This record gives sequence, C-alpha cells and structure tokens, in this order.
Amino acid sequence: MLAPSTRVPTTILTMLSVSGLTKRYTDTVALDGVNLSPAPGRTTVLIGPSGCGKSTLLRAFIGLVLPDVGEVHFDGQPVTPADALAVRRRVGYVIQQGGLFPHLTARENVTLLSDHLREDSTQRIQELCSLVRLEESMLSRYPAELSGGQSQRVSLMRALMLDPQVLLLDEPLGALDPMVRAELQTELREIFRKLAKTVVLVTHDLAEAAYFGDEIVLMRNGRIEQQGPFRALVDTPASDFVREFVNAQRALHSTEAA
Ligand code: ADP
Repeated sequence: MLAPSTRVPTTILTMLSVSGLTKRYTDTVALDGVNLSPAPGRTTVLIGPSGCGKSTLLRAFIGLVLPDVGEVHFDGQPVTPADALAVRRRVGYVIQQGGLFPHLTARENVTLLSDHLREDSTQRIQELCSLVRLEESMLSRYPAELSGGQSQRVSLMRALMLDPQVLLLDEPLGALDPMVRAELQTELREIFRKLAKTVVLVTHDLAEAAYFGDEIVLMRNGRIEQQGPFRALVDTPASDFVREFVNAQRALHSTEAA
C-alpha cells in the first residue's frame, strides 16, 4: 500500500473505465447502465450467468462493441470508433478458442501485429516462450497441430507481444480439459502477478473467479449485482441472487468433487 503522502488518486492511475454503459440488441438489453473501473495492476473477474453481458462488457472496453449510451475511457481518453484500433494495439485480448488464424503458423500469429516494427522480435519471442512455458519449436506449427493448452499459450504470447498495459481474457480456459485447465490456471495467475498488468477476465466458474480475482464483479441481466473481493460475496451477499449464485456454484463443485 502507498504511504498517504505518495498516494495518487485512482482516477489518474485507472487505465480503463466505463460509465453508464448501455447496449441493446433489438429486444435484448445486453448492458444496462454499467459503471466499472478495473483496478490498475490487479485482476478483475467478470462472472455471472450465461447471457448476463460479460463478453459484451469486455468487448466494449476495446471498442469491439459500441455502446448505445455511456462512455468508455482508456488511459484518460474517451474511446471513439475512430481510435478504437489504436486502443486495441495497447490491449492484449484472449478469447476462449484462442482466435488464432488457422492459415498462419504460431510464430506468424504471435508476430502479426508487430511485424512492421523494425526491432528484432526474436528476443521478445524467446522471453514470451519462457514466460508462458512453450517450447520455441512449437512456433513453426499451425494452430491445428497444437493442443488446446498449447494454442492458449500461443494466444497469450500474441496478446502480450506488444507489452500491453491491459490484458482482457474471455473464458481463456473454458475449452480446455480439467488437467490442462488446472495447470494453466496456476501459470496464468503467476504471470498476472509477475507482470502486474491490469487484467479483466471473464469466467462463469466461481472457483476460477475466486482463484484469479482481486475483485469479483457479479453481473445479472446487464447490470452489476455486486462487486468486491470474493469473501464479501460469500459473507455479505448484496441480494438473494448473489447468495443463490454463490450457493449454486458451491453445490456444483461439491458434486464434482464427490
Ligand atoms: P455473456 O458473456 O454473459 O454470456 P453476452 O455479453 O455474450 O453474455 O450477451 C449478453 C446478451 O446480449 C445475451 O442475451 C446475448 O444473446 C445478447 N447478444 C450479445 N451479442 C449479440 C449480438 N451481436 N446480437 C444480438 N444479441 C447479442
């Protein structure tokens, strides 16, 4: 914690924030007046039932979804359609199935955005391979020749290639089998802590949210139902819905463990 004399207002440090964000699709309200400023250098987890607006919110952060009402700010500036591309270059984005281009090798996928940069990317690639624990020889393969876990490691390398300040991950482990998922969970958390980036991660699994999240944001019907540390959701649920969501997930995990 910073000493009082050196404390900087959070608004200055905040890389990413949304205010009053509303997004409708014909008869569906995907986001309904959402305000959120993920804490800088920490991991914020978006959780909630399917269809509650998690992915829409994540995509709105980088201009992949344009809100009907409300504002998105990145590094103190409002994000408009015109500069969304520039923002995307400063944000790493990982989706569930990796989103790798099938016709490019893993190396080409990783260097896609950085190819025009003059500096030699060899050293950066070596650093990233070691960070995500991927053998460099795997980079000559095409995505179809990689396992699910290897693909996600490559996706993470691509997201980190330009050393973004912010990392957004949409169910990054959702498509992996339980063993690989557990292994990557441990490694991802280590990476987040080591790099101290602002991370926003979407999951539908409360245990995963508790494992990663410095802050948990529980959503329902396009709104934030409760936001805070995991313990607060368990000990002081803000509504019956929060209590029921937590209990249902705990029951699910105890059934799985039995
Ligand atoms: P979650 O990630 O929590 O499962 P989403 O953010 O993907 O939820 O979706 C929120 C709601 O908005 C859902 O009802 C979904 O069907 C709807 N939705 C999302 N994207 C679109 C779209 N492109 N067109 C129409 N409806 C959409």
